[in-house]
Amino acid sequence: MPNQRRVGRGGRHPVLRGSSWTWQEHAACRSEPADIFFGPEGEKPAERNEREQRAVEICARCPVRQQCQGHAVRLPETYGVWGGTTEAGRQTSRRGRLASPAA
Ligand code: SF4
Repeated sequence: MPNQRRVGRGGRHPVLRGSSWTWQEHAACRSEPADIFFGPEGEKPAERNEREQRAVEICARCPVRQQCQGHAVRLPETYGVWGGTTEAGRQTSRRGRLASPAA
C-alpha cells in the first residue's frame, strides 16, 4: 500500500518510531513535524518543492544524516525525505543504478 508509511499531521518522522536503531536518538527531526518530511496526497509541485527544501535544510544539520540516507537507499524508502534526499532524487538514483552496466 503506497501511502502506508506516510504519517498524519502532527506526527513525527517514522525514523523515530518502532525501531531499534540507535542512531535515531540523535536525529535532528525528532522535534520537527513529520509533515515537513512527508507531503499530503495531491500536493502541488511548488508546495512540494518548498516543503522538501525545509526538510533537506533540517537534514543538513543532522548528525546522523549518513546513517539515515544509507537506510533509505538500502530499504529502499519510497516516500518522504530521508537523509537529505527526496523521493524524486532517490528514484532517479535507483534508475541510474539499474541502468548502469555491471562493473
Ligand atoms: S537525516 Fe533528516 S530524516 Fe534522517 S534522521 Fe536526520 S533529520 Fe531525520
